Amino acid sequence: LEQLPPPEALQRPVPFADITSAVVYGLERELPVDIGPERAERRAALLAWLQLLSSSFPLPENRAAMARLHRLVRAALAENSPVGLRQWASLLEELPRPIFPAGGAVGAIAWAACRGVSEEARGYPCALWLLFHSLVAHSSDATAAATLRTIRAYVDHFFGCEACRRHFVAMFDAKPPDVRTADAAALWLWRAHNAVNLRLNRSGEATVLRYGLPKVQWPPADVCPGCKSPSGRWREVAVLRLLRAVYCHDGAECGVAR
Ligand code: FAD
Repeated sequence: LEQLPPPEALQRPVPFADITSAVVYGLERELPVDIGPERAERRAALLAWLQLLSSSFPLPENRAAMARLHRLVRAALAENSPVGLRQWASLLEELPRPIFPAGGAVGAIAWAACRGVSEEARGYPCALWLLFHSLVAHSSDATAAATLRTIRAYVDHFFGCEACRRHFVAMFDAKPPDVRTADAAALWLWRAHNAVNLRLNRSGEATVLRYGLPKVQWPPADVCPGCKSPSGRWREVAVLRLLRAVYCHDGAECGVAR
């Protein structure tokens, strides 16, 4: 494997390149699966995902671009067309380039914070986490619970990592998040991500461990010295402040109902 330099230190907010690349990677490589008329649940998951991107992706111009894609896909599904690989290609061709017009977005897949020694080891799974955290950070109290359900459905129907899908859906369904605020949703996803970090840190069997970074309980002290009390308990107010600084691109608009 080619040796790449280590990823840059945590940026606040996270680079646009990673979250736009996660969406584009998904559109090009994960969503083109069987979505025929008999796959009602999967169709609903797809429409909910595009709806979430059009309401909670950072910056208004990008949300407008995703709303356009949502309309195109909804119209294609309404005609009961199978939306197979070829239809996906032509749908994506109809989108103006770059797909995300604002935020210094790149047109193609280009990992920044998620650059690693291989695409499978970091790249997409890493950027998908960043995208999920960002979508939750841009949700409002009214939409936060639905945002988490839509993320679960995306993972269930479209995430190509089978072990990730199985584990995440099992964790979600074992104790479905009962959240009433955007802050509660942000903390739920933070805990869920840390639960995955902990499991990977313990299991040792995951091949990602050979290529990825050490799995730590996030944030470590060097990223947020005030996030834990001297006795080692999380200070959730400080964690929330950090989550907002890292995952919110819309400034005061973050969490505003749309
Ligand atoms: P990642 O864990 O991908 O994290 C990316 C960045 O997010 C970190 O660099 C850090 O800046 C930040 N971060 C870390 N923890 C948190 C947190 N708690 N809250 C907020 N931000 C945080 N791999 C498996 O082998 N088995 C699995 O079962 C599995 N399940 C997964 C489930 C999901 C939903 C996803 C998206 C991925 C899953 N993966 C799984 C992949 C794995 O979690 C990592 O994404 C991958 O190993 C790359 O790790 P990374 O070191 O780049 O950091």
